[in-house]
Amino acid sequence: MIGITSYGAYIPRLRLDRMAIFQAMGWFAPAIVMVAQGERSMCNHDEDSLTMAVAAARDCLTGKEKKAIDGAYLCSTTLPFADRQNAGILKTALNLRDDMITADFTSSLRAGTTGLLTALEVAQGGSRKNILVAAADKRETRPAFFYEMWFGDGAAALLVGDQQVIAEFKGAYTVSYDFVDHYRGAGKRYDYMWEERWLREEGYSKFIPEAVDGLFKKLGITMNDVQKVVFPCLFKAEHKAIAKKLGATPEKVIDQMHEVCGETGAAHPLVMLIAALEQAKPGDGILLAGFGQGCDALYFKVTEQITKLAPRAGVKGSLENKKTIDNYMKFLKFRGLIEPEMGIRAEAPTQTAMTVLWRKRKMLTGLVGGKCRDCGTAQFPKMDICVNPKCNHVNTQDDYEFADVPARIKTFTGDLLAVSVDPPATYGMVQFEGGGRFMADFTDCELADCKVGLPVKMAFRRRFTDDERGFSGYFWKAVPQRGAAAALPEIRFDGRVAIVTGAGAGLGRTYALELAKRGAKVVVNDFGGARDGAGTGSSSPADRVVAEIRAAGGEAVANYDNVATPEGGEKIVKIAVEFFGKVDILINNAGILRDKSFLKMDPENWNAVLAVHLNGGYNVTRPAFAVMREKGYGRIVMTTSAAGLYGNFGQTNYSAAKMGLVGFMNTLKLEGAKYNIRVNTLAPVAASRLTEDVMPPDMFERMQPDFVAGIVLYLCSENCAESGDIFNAAAGFYSRAAILTGAGEALSDGTSIPTPEEIRDHWEKINSLDGAREIGDANTAIISFMTPPAPKADSSGAAGGGAADVKGIFAKMPEAFDAAAAAGKNVVFQFSISGPGGGDWVVAVKDGACKVEAGKTEKPTTTIKMADADFLQLIAGTLDGMQAYSSGKLKVEGDIMKSQLIARLFKFGK
Ligand code: NAD
Repeated sequence: MIGITSYGAYIPRLRLDRMAIFQAMGWFAPAIVMVAQGERSMCNHDEDSLTMAVAAARDCLTGKEKKAIDGAYLCSTTLPFADRQNAGILKTALNLRDDMITADFTSSLRAGTTGLLTALEVAQGGSRKNILVAAADKRETRPAFFYEMWFGDGAAALLVGDQQVIAEFKGAYTVSYDFVDHYRGAGKRYDYMWEERWLREEGYSKFIPEAVDGLFKKLGITMNDVQKVVFPCLFKAEHKAIAKKLGATPEKVIDQMHEVCGETGAAHPLVMLIAALEQAKPGDGILLAGFGQGCDALYFKVTEQITKLAPRAGVKGSLENKKTIDNYMKFLKFRGLIEPEMGIRAEAPTQTAMTVLWRKRKMLTGLVGGKCRDCGTAQFPKMDICVNPKCNHVNTQDDYEFADVPARIKTFTGDLLAVSVDPPATYGMVQFEGGGRFMADFTDCELADCKVGLPVKMAFRRRFTDDERGFSGYFWKAVPQRGAAAALPEIRFDGRVAIVTGAGAGLGRTYALELAKRGAKVVVNDFGGARDGAGTGSSSPADRVVAEIRAAGGEAVANYDNVATPEGGEKIVKIAVEFFGKVDILINNAGILRDKSFLKMDPENWNAVLAVHLNGGYNVTRPAFAVMREKGYGRIVMTTSAAGLYGNFGQTNYSAAKMGLVGFMNTLKLEGAKYNIRVNTLAPVAASRLTEDVMPPDMFERMQPDFVAGIVLYLCSENCAESGDIFNAAAGFYSRAAILTGAGEALSDGTSIPTPEEIRDHWEKINSLDGAREIGDANTAIISFMTPPAPKADSSGAAGGGAADVKGIFAKMPEAFDAAAAAGKNVVFQFSISGPGGGDWVVAVKDGACKVEAGKTEKPTTTIKMADADFLQLIAGTLDGMQAYSSGKLKVEGDIMKSQLIARLFKFGK
């Protein structure tokens, strides 16, 4: 079965109240009042047929597999390029495959139906399976013309194929005539219109019935087989009269939409067809006729599949999303029909480099960035190096489409000084969920509606027009979603399986209840022992919580195993798998206390606490991790404590165990990264059995566990991108804690041993946290110790000894050589500097002397490989050696420790 498999529409948000046209121009053209009812849709200043087609196509592709599309047709009489395939831009903006056919259908109002018919016949022929047909028009008229009232801007898109067909294509009949009711000469802006009567009486009234009669005869059907009749016609009365002539009763006829948007040119038959599909029931017959130099008539039968189509804006949603204006001058300005002075700032050159446009087409036209294969961080633009400071891996970026990723406003401004067709120019930083951000122009919004945190949707828009060269440049802008913050979906755990250890009371109980409330199936584990872990346990705490969850309509199962044993851990995970099939979330929460000052801390008390907290974490996590790894998904939360992070008198056992969990997390986050397993650690403070004798009673009252649950649930949620982080939570206060490493100082190149006196003399720097940062893993840390930060750039410009090129630097090396620092050193460096300014140099240091020669040596002690530009930056002090190394810009082979000598032996710019 061949037919329509999906639809989408786009009517611009702005509508012009037609009375505004009359009010401005009625003195000149009073007759236009006759058609001044309702409002017409109008493009924003950054919209045209192409941007509207992209918007409609995105709506149409909701829930559809883009890779399956093997053709894209764009139908319009107002395409931005006469010779540059517009459908090719559409395809690139949508990130469709490259091995597909693209074509523009144009120069007739019939282009929309002809494009659709061609797609259907190609699909019938079997050479292509899924073809996207988008149609759009933005037609211009001179001011105060009837057609200015009748026309509207808009777009429609249909997907044609043989799978999940919502309206089966039954057949078509076309008549083609060189009938001219209007025309637009090549290169002209406006249509030349013949008399309306000519169009009414010789055009619409003759060709539509002729095509429909031909179709009915061909298919052997009558108007009784049709439930929806779709054909555009500018004139309301004529529309009715033609329907009557065709034998269609009024309830079958789809409104021609004059009051709500006006006629959208080549797109209009398809816009009206979508309006019909939105109302259609399975079994309905739809007759579609598209007029223009003859007429295409098509017949469809709606299928059951229409009830399964994913929700989308369509015509209905597009019409609802509107802002009506009565500012006719704005309408004229947005369309370039008047030319107010834009100021000299608007004269900036706008030439587009076609080389850049081609090379960066995915980024500029398709809004494609990168996503790190190793840590999952998304970034825009895509680069060689992962931006996550804890990863920084090189060449790990896969293409990642940002257009449909949820995003929010991070910062914004309204700029009255910047050149804008619709001041103030509103722009700001947009932050995408899961990573990635960029400075975007905002559109379809008023400054007063913008708020930090407000969700935005990305829209493909015109960024500029280069009138001199006839070029339109496109990029993506952000559309703030007014009121969307309130409507944002809540965090849910439907279909997720969670294990919460120690969930019979206190914090664990609250986590379990909240997870279940939001759809998770929960394993409620609790051994049920005393506060210090003594006793043989009890099933009642876990049972009580399970009963509570079930009473509230949730799903849960109880487990009474002891986390302190490996068998206990295995059994807890086994229950989750047996009852619910998997484990998605694990909260290691079970805990006991055995506080004693250190000398009283006997091995029994020490071991008991480590067994529950640290070993308990290991015992449950190991089998759970195996299940998560297999399924490629996991969220793990460890529970630490302020006592571990910062220390607490009488809790050496507890502090050690709690900090042990942080170390456990630090490594597990690395091992879990590529399986989408994220591990974080929480340090809670809350009223519970553990704290009842520690907190003053009024404080105890206020510190309810509910205050902590929110952050734990967030850390367990699908879209939480964090992994390897520590958070504090208490009574509504939340913060991140981290292990920082200072910039430090290198006192040795690894050959001489620094003395205690040297340590003392450099203590200030060693002990300083100036320039401290977090380090993502031990390897990065070790490398950073071996390649300390480069000296600060010399503001006098003398860095690099005044040399501006790589060759110059090697020429100056003997001058920069510090003979005193070289005493006893015997080392040969091979430098391989790539790039146009690069080359090979050998730098030999022996007996306090330095020899620099161009070329290669067979047995260097250490080989340094860098690009020329990076090398210049390194020498100038603007590139940090450690960062250059960890990001892959600096490669060291041979004796890595000796590379540190370079900074000590050669003092450029000093
Ligand atoms: P709680 O005593 O109310 O709850 C802990 C639960 O763990 C109890 O129901 C207990 O039966 C269970 N449990 C103990 N040993 C177990 C074992 N071996 N196997 C299975 N279950 C076991 O205490 P809470 O305050 O809710 O503590 C929860 C976690 O939060 C603990 O890890 C604790 O160390 C940590 N924590 C709490 C606070 C706080 O202010 N409450 C502060 C820092 C850390």
